[in-house]
Amino acid sequence: MRKISQGLSHFLLNATNTEQFVKTAQFYKALGFQEILGQNDNAITSEKVWLKLHAEESSLTSDVTIKLVIDTSAVQREQPPQDVDWALHTSGMVLTVTDIDTIKGQLKEQGVLFQDQSSTSANDRIQLIELYALDPLNNMIVFANKPAFPSLLDKHDILSQGAPTAVKAASQPSPKRKKIAVLTSGGDAPGMNPAVRAVVRYGISKGCEVFAVYEGYQGLVDGGERIRKMDWKSVRGWLAVGGTTIGTARCMPFKKREGRLQAAQNLVSNGIDSLIVCGGDGSLTGADVFRSEWPGLINELKESGRITAEQANTYQHLTIVGLVGSIDNDMSSTDITIGAVTSLHRICESVDSIGTTALSHSRAFVVEVMGRHCGWLALMAGIATGADFVFIPERPPTSDDWESVMCSVAQRHRQLGKRKTVIIVAEGAIDRSLKPIKAEYIKDILSDRLGLDTRVTTLGHTQRGGSPAAFDRILATIQGVEAVEAVLRSTPDTPSPLIGMSNNHVTTGPLMKAVELTHDVAKAISEKDFARAMELRDPQFSEEFDAYSASTILDDHSMILPEHQQMRLAVIHVGAPAGGMNAATRTAVRYGLNRGHTMLGIYNGFPGLVRGSVEEMSWIKVDGWTSRGGSELGTNRAVPGESVDMGMVAYQLQQNNIQGLMIIGGFEAFTALRNLEEARDKYPSLCIPICHLPATVSNNVPGTDYSLGSDTSLNAITDACDSILQSARSSRRRVFVVEVQGGRSGYLAVEAGIATGANTIYIPEEGLSLARLQSDVRHLMALYLDDDADRSEGRIVLRNETVSKTYTTDVISSILKDEGHALFDSRTAVLGHLQQGNTPSPMDRIRATRLAMRCVCFLEKHALAVLDNAYRNGTPIPVELTKDVESAAVIGLSGNQVTHRSVPSLLPVTDLKNRKPKDAWWYEHRPLVDLLSGRGLFTKQAQELLSE
Ligand code: ADP
Repeated sequence: MRKISQGLSHFLLNATNTEQFVKTAQFYKALGFQEILGQNDNAITSEKVWLKLHAEESSLTSDVTIKLVIDTSAVQREQPPQDVDWALHTSGMVLTVTDIDTIKGQLKEQGVLFQDQSSTSANDRIQLIELYALDPLNNMIVFANKPAFPSLLDKHDILSQGAPTAVKAASQPSPKRKKIAVLTSGGDAPGMNPAVRAVVRYGISKGCEVFAVYEGYQGLVDGGERIRKMDWKSVRGWLAVGGTTIGTARCMPFKKREGRLQAAQNLVSNGIDSLIVCGGDGSLTGADVFRSEWPGLINELKESGRITAEQANTYQHLTIVGLVGSIDNDMSSTDITIGAVTSLHRICESVDSIGTTALSHSRAFVVEVMGRHCGWLALMAGIATGADFVFIPERPPTSDDWESVMCSVAQRHRQLGKRKTVIIVAEGAIDRSLKPIKAEYIKDILSDRLGLDTRVTTLGHTQRGGSPAAFDRILATIQGVEAVEAVLRSTPDTPSPLIGMSNNHVTTGPLMKAVELTHDVAKAISEKDFARAMELRDPQFSEEFDAYSASTILDDHSMILPEHQQMRLAVIHVGAPAGGMNAATRTAVRYGLNRGHTMLGIYNGFPGLVRGSVEEMSWIKVDGWTSRGGSELGTNRAVPGESVDMGMVAYQLQQNNIQGLMIIGGFEAFTALRNLEEARDKYPSLCIPICHLPATVSNNVPGTDYSLGSDTSLNAITDACDSILQSARSSRRRVFVVEVQGGRSGYLAVEAGIATGANTIYIPEEGLSLARLQSDVRHLMALYLDDDADRSEGRIVLRNETVSKTYTTDVISSILKDEGHALFDSRTAVLGHLQQGNTPSPMDRIRATRLAMRCVCFLEKHALAVLDNAYRNGTPIPVELTKDVESAAVIGLSGNQVTHRSVPSLLPVTDLKNRKPKDAWWYEHRPLVDLLSGRGLFTKQAQELLSE
């Protein structure tokens, strides 16, 4: 039997008169409840009685206690009508009993009203009985007979039959059973919950015991209830929850030795030998202090008799592992911290909204964003929202009279027709003499000097809030897993590791070094060594800053190329729309114009080009495109050399005198690049630099880790799955088979699988068989059997659209429905074009800006020599600018680098038939989906019960 709600100390039942009181007490006693003394009041009177059903005498997981009193003012509950489904009743007490027949008999004997909601599985193997009864006060009681076997998932004697390789490896017994505690400390950050979830579940799967310390270091100092053992189910649903459910606090006592001594005692008394701390630099400094003092603390505890000599001997060493949870992205040694990207989502949502009102009233807005000494949030928000000016601590304005510079930029933008001005200022922004630059001051300058109607918006704590973005869920999950691995690898001699991220891979480096480097940034700023401050940030930071400056601020001719190097460059969109296509086009146009090029937009892909749909793009034409989804130019799947005539393409390129072509799109764009490059021998006008900027939700373009649109899509899928799960949780035990795009690539399914906590995924890389479906049905049944009787739980299966012709989304759902009959229902959700998202995510906008600028640089670089030659020799510029194979390339991201990969260098690593790269960096995440959904964690009983 089970309580309806964990942590509830008792149910309070109010009888309105003595007759009801007596009847109700008799009713519960007949069910096995016994009278006990109260908790704080120990009298059993004729008006008050405590009744308890003992766990050990029934099948309860914990005791159920009822306090029954007479309260004449209490409102008598209405009896629910018998013709409605009592299962829909919003409250009730759930008692799980093994001998349901006896209960049924008792109810009948007592003349109690009840509804029988029992059901049987299709193969008669499992019968679920649920009786909904009313006590004499009309309170709903649910009697359920969950098949009697213990919880499947919080066992340590895990069997891994039928589990994938990684799960098998994970469930091998570790040499030493670790007891790990995890805590979150300092400022909360979205993604802390997914990190704790990953630590708990991966730790359990490795055979460790995992504890959560509530309220950060304060919980460690307080001990007791604040250090709680976690099981598999304690972290269910945490992926989607922002902040930190285990709480965080700033803890002064932990800064003192006495506090840390108490914390050490509490760890030892709980038998904990490892601590994973998720927090900012302050929390991680504290963690390192704790570890360095540990031997001394243990000794003192032993000397003062607070722990035994044996305990002192067993707990000689404390393993500490750091995870960086901080919205500021201010930690050195890691490219990105948990929470920063979600915070950026919140900022961009706000600035986008402010943008529309600013536009309506032709206003200026000064937006202050968080970040302490770090300008990452401000800069990235500036890029992602197309702000007019950004102030950050690491790169103060170069001019002492920055007020005039800012005003001239804002004014130039206005003169070009912009109706809004947005200035983003980091809370730690300073000028060159370290004087803070404050939002109010900027507002006064804009109002006084330019006469702009200016408002200040301080975003404040909205930036910390909300459900974590897909990026943070994935980041926190893979880092949480790595933190447990680091615990298991650690020896007394290894320095405390910090889990970081570099080049798109999880890294482990010395924690203290990272903290020192982080403090160096503040030091460099205070010493006005701004070059050093920029250098200490992640490598992309200064490149992003340059891309922002070069594309956002209308240049005062300082960037312009000599006239003979100025070109006619065209941008075209190919394939399906993807978030970031417009942002990339905007950056290319603005940067190109700043360089003196003529920028051309080609409408509706290659068919549009053939029709001569080419227009010169102005600076204002692309205003606001950063935040627009879809494709403003219009996109088309048709590819030259296939459904579009190559000769016509060559003709139009020549006709429009196009000297460089930037193709933004997915695999079709790659095919276009290949075909154009191949046809260069036939058509001189194709002998121009051509670059392909990957943009597709499927992320299946060779030569890049990420294509534009893939992050937007992951967020769209994650949001949709969150809604689906919420619906299931509120109504029925339901498995949703969610069909996602991706072509022949499982990228979206795998990454969304991690971000949504999907129970399983079907991807083309693995295919789908009957055996696999059977085993998945069993897995799902085991999970539902293990659920609390009174909870409706939703579960997600993600199916890539092309995984199988036979096992369609509908077929899978029907199979699940039939096979899971008594335990769960199934529905489908085909997300379709929803996956393209509405507004592009900040990550896609930022990637777009960075890559687009590099595309223009690439086009310039490959034409420069010919242009210079013609100029020197006084000859006309030839149509044929370059035939160099390197001059037709994919401009992509490899880790934190931007790379140019020529067509011949990419062909050997491309699976042309399946339209994707042969290797996929994300495939290593695949086992985590199964592992973190508990697949393979079957107990013997479950296997026996469910096996054919
Ligand atoms: P963040 O981790 O976000 O940087 P803080 O700097 O406020 O946040 O640190 C969080 C907590 O970490 C502090 O309240 C304190 O308990 C602990 N802490 C920070 N610095 C130290 C230190 N030098 N020694 C011991 N504990 C510390």
